[in-house]
Amino acid sequence: MDFVVDPPEIISLPVKGGGNWPVNNIYCVGRNYAAHAVEMGGNPDQEPPFFFMKPGYAVLKSGGEMEYPSESSQVHHEVELIVALSGGGRNISVENAMDLVYGYGVGIDMTRRDLQSAAKDRSWPWEAGKVFRHAAPCSEIVPKLESGEINEAALALSINGDIRQQGNVNQMIWKVPQIISGLSKLFSLHSGDLIFTGTPEGVGPIKVGDQISANLESFATLEISVVSK
Ligand code: MN
Repeated sequence: MDFVVDPPEIISLPVKGGGNWPVNNIYCVGRNYAAHAVEMGGNPDQEPPFFFMKPGYAVLKSGGEMEYPSESSQVHHEVELIVALSGGGRNISVENAMDLVYGYGVGIDMTRRDLQSAAKDRSWPWEAGKVFRHAAPCSEIVPKLESGEINEAALALSINGDIRQQGNVNQMIWKVPQIISGLSKLFSLHSGDLIFTGTPEGVGPIKVGDQISANLESFATLEISVVSK
C-alpha cells in the first residue's frame, strides 16, 4: 500500500514452543484483588473493578532494560496475570469467553503512581500514570494447550531477590471469563489483544539499578532491569 508515512512496526512477544505473538490492544483491569483495592484506599464491597488501556509500545520483553520514565519519582510495580486472545468480537457471553483465550503470561503494570494520584485528585484521565515506554513488561506467551486453563496459580514479584508481591489468581474478583465478557460489552476485542487482569497487594516503588523478577507459578517468568533514561 502506498502509505504516505512509515506504518507502525508490529509489536511482538515470543510464544513458548515457537512463533511470535502480534500485540494488538492492551486492556487492563483496575482493583481486581480486594486486598490491593484496600491498600489503594478503595472499598471492594462498594466499588467494582474497571478497565483502562495501555498502547502496544509499552511492551518490554523479558530480558530487557526498562527505562525509568520521565516526569515521575514514584514508579510502582504491579505483577499481573496476562491473558492473550486468539479471537475477538463484541457481546461475548461468559460461557463462550474461554474459547477466545490462546494462552497466558505474566506481566508488570508499571505505574507512575505520583501522576496517577494527581489525576485521581483532579478527576483527570489516567494515561499519564499508566502509559509510557516500557510500562508493560511481558513474559513470553504460554499457549493454553500447554498450561491448561489457569484458574489457580501463584503470582509473585521480587526485586533484587526480595519478594515484594505474592498472590494467587484465584483471588481475582472478576475471573477471566467475566473480564472478557465485560470488556466485549464495552469494546471490540481482537486477536492479538492482551489483558492485564489486576494485581494482588504489595505494590511499591522501583528504582534505577533494580533487577525485577516476576513469575506465574512455573508457567511463565519475566526478568527485567531498571536503567536510567
Ligand atoms: Mn494494575
